[in-house]
Amino acid sequence: MQTKNIAIVGSGLVGSLLAIYLRKRKYEVTVFDRRPDIRTIEFSGRSINLAMSVRGWKTLDKIGIGDTVRELSIPMHKRTMHLTGEPIYHQHYGNDGEAIYSIPRGILNRKMITLAEDAGVVFKFNEKVWDINLPEAKIYTGETEKSEWKEYQYDIVFGCDGAFSRVRHKMQRRSRFNYSQKFLDTGYKELGIPAYLDGTHRLDKNSLHIWPRGKFMLIALPNLDGSFTCTLFMPHEGEDSFEMLTNDNEVKKFWEINFPDTLDLMPGLLEDFRNNPTSALVTTKCYPWSYWDKVALVGDSAHAIVPFYGQGMNAGFEDISVLDDIIEELGDDNWQDIFETYQESRKSNADAIAELSYRNFIEMSSKTADPDFLLRKKIEKRFSQKYPEKWLPLYSRVTFSHRPYEEALNIGDQQAEIMSKVMQMNNIETIWDTEEVEQYILNLLEVKDFKLQS
Ligand SMILES: Cc1cc2nc3c(=O)[nH]c(=O)nc-3n(C[C@H](O)[C@H](O)[C@H](O)COP(=O)(O)OP(=O)(O)OC[C@H]3O[C@@H](n4cnc5c(N)ncnc54)[C@H](O)[C@@H]3O)c2cc1C
Repeated sequence: MQTKNIAIVGSGLVGSLLAIYLRKRKYEVTVFDRRPDIRTIEFSGRSINLAMSVRGWKTLDKIGIGDTVRELSIPMHKRTMHLTGEPIYHQHYGNDGEAIYSIPRGILNRKMITLAEDAGVVFKFNEKVWDINLPEAKIYTGETEKSEWKEYQYDIVFGCDGAFSRVRHKMQRRSRFNYSQKFLDTGYKELGIPAYLDGTHRLDKNSLHIWPRGKFMLIALPNLDGSFTCTLFMPHEGEDSFEMLTNDNEVKKFWEINFPDTLDLMPGLLEDFRNNPTSALVTTKCYPWSYWDKVALVGDSAHAIVPFYGQGMNAGFEDISVLDDIIEELGDDNWQDIFETYQESRKSNADAIAELSYRNFIEMSSKTADPDFLLRKKIEKRFSQKYPEKWLPLYSRVTFSHRPYEEALNIGDQQAEIMSKVMQMNNIETIWDTEEVEQYILNLLEVKDFKLQS
């Protein structure tokens, strides 16, 4: 049988990894991107750092490129919390030395494109896709919307063109195509902590550092060259917002009040603040994710989420491994079946991680500094260490397991209900590490008759 000729729109992380997967199945694969080849351009400003966790690693390991990518990453075993006027403290992520891994997005993207090229994928850079003929899997590229377009015909087209996908845009014009987008009031700006002159890190390099301040927060992720990439998340408008920080003096004053311990670490703060853009955060949802046997969406084009669980890329990578499993299981004669099975299995999980990511912003920015929340976490941790078969904390279920996101959301809600009851026990602050509390949780679990650990 003749091999399929497949186009992927978008050479981002998801598009380039999907290309490698499809090449492994011997399809002809061409990837289009509106940008120049990212390997040929200097990074301007800093590139976002991503936290890779087990869902991402599984997808990379499945085709044997995990170790190559691990070399670009730094493990972060814990959150390091920097509260105003209090000593720094740590929250370990998992029980057994589990870690999430910091990788600069630009460096990872360059590596993935090279790996895809090595696998035989053809890239067409500087070719923006303006339109797509869905029933015929034809795409149209050109310099501008009004210039003359080139037409390409494929058997299948994948839209991996990100949150504001052009491919999805065309699908939106069809009847009964659902689409929603919601911008957060909070935006973000990249800042930096350079390395010491000898190339060492100025903060513990195996941590994700957080300065939680209620409605806003600063985070820092380590880079291999000794620097940290920081992100300030803050409302666009109102009190303590980006709109209030319009000049160097205001930024400096704001920093002296809110992040005084970072002033020495961030000699380029004012310059970074001036030069780097303030960006928006959006959640997008849509359905269906495919058009007959011709077109499918993968990654952010199908489900862009806010970044507070560090799962956007991980979820996009999981899409790819699920799709690949489905092709393996169903064979590749009927792509409509493949696409329908794929979208049905992924949609509820994408919605669940969107919800969890949104909630985690509240947790990271305000609750991580709240004594009640910290006590809750201590009780949960103690119980899960003693009864690992009965209790896997939500964060671990999302970050360190391959269980579906939807299940994590459902079970997490039930665990939260139990913990709210536990927190109402008399003198919980003093009895939190006793058998009484343990027994109470065991009883509640029994009443629920719910198998919390899958
Ligand atoms: C601040 C921030 C922090 C994040 N942190 C994490 C994290 O810690 N962990 C995690 O897992 N995820 C994280 N994410 C999410 C992650 O960055 C995205 O989920 C991931 O990059 C999505 O990859 P993608 O390939 O689907 O889309 P994109 O990376 O957006 O790539 C889309 C590609 O398509 C190209 N393109 C777009 N339109 C066209 C067109 N018309 N024609 C041709 N090409 C086109 C673009 O140039 C681009 O190369 C974070 C996101 C943000 C904003």
